[in-house]
Amino acid sequence: MEIADKEIYLSPGPTFPAPQSPWTLSHEIILPLWKVWPSKNRFFLNGRIMIGPKEDQKYLLCTWALLASVSIFYFIFISPYLWITISPILPIIAMYCFLSSMVFIWLTTTTEPGIIPKKPVWEVIGTVPEEFTEAVLISQPNRGYKYCPTCKIYRPPRSHHCKNCGNCVEDFDHHCRFLDNCIGKRNYRWFMSSVFSSISLGVTEITGFLFFLFYNVGEDHSRRSLIEDGPTIICIVVIITLFSLIITVFVSILCIFHMTLCITGESTKERIKGIKAESKRSCCRKKRSYFDRMMLLNSAQIRNIVDEYPPNSV
Ligand SMILES: [Zn+2]
Ligand SMILES: [Zn+2]
Repeated sequence: MEIADKEIYLSPGPTFPAPQSPWTLSHEIILPLWKVWPSKNRFFLNGRIMIGPKEDQKYLLCTWALLASVSIFYFIFISPYLWITISPILPIIAMYCFLSSMVFIWLTTTTEPGIIPKKPVWEVIGTVPEEFTEAVLISQPNRGYKYCPTCKIYRPPRSHHCKNCGNCVEDFDHHCRFLDNCIGKRNYRWFMSSVFSSISLGVTEITGFLFFLFYNVGEDHSRRSLIEDGPTIICIVVIITLFSLIITVFVSILCIFHMTLCITGESTKERIKGIKAESKRSCCRKKRSYFDRMMLLNSAQIRNIVDEYPPNSV
């Protein structure tokens, strides 16, 4: 009787599946890194494009609206007149400057600026390199390595944590709200190119507007406009010319400021905060990104990131 009881106790009973969390499912969850990226950066085109935080989206739209509105007005109303009455050169140069401004602004906004991955991201890529761990304080003492409590890494000198994006960025210059991205090691050259091309576009368009006004408002009526010199179009051109002039002067001041920084080897942050730079910037060198945002992660790797940086906490 005792033996029979024991046999009943040991015999396998019906089995029920244990409650499962998404991370304990028998099948493997595979996600690309960009889907669990622990910062405020946003991704488009299935992770191929990475830009800054949503809060700066309105400033980026302002930049594009400004660029497009003045240029569309110029190409529709002013350039046909210039092409026929003066020379096709001005509209051609303006189109070249417009296209290059668009390309450089796009590159500045969408180029990963030199983000140093947070510790859990390093751990899914491989291991945290020694240069981002405490060991660097012993191997390279007094070099200016600083611990970032958010990213949990030791960041190299001239790197800073961007509060807007939530990342440490190498050779951080500043966070540009109007381009919705950090400006750092990997996109500083695109930023400067977009500043130069925007100034060129402004100067070319203002020149075209002035030619248009000169031949339509001046005393010389020998070369009349294709558009009859109605006061409305003249008023609009005057307002747009003044507006373009203000923007071009502002961007030119920004350009002179950055050219000064290039000569002194400082970054915007260092100049504003009075931080003494101990090394040279290497913003114009090509540098590969540390990570591949399309890299596929398994469940354990995803959990490694999500446990440290839950989706709503970043
Ligand atoms: Zn950081
Ligand atoms: Zn930023």
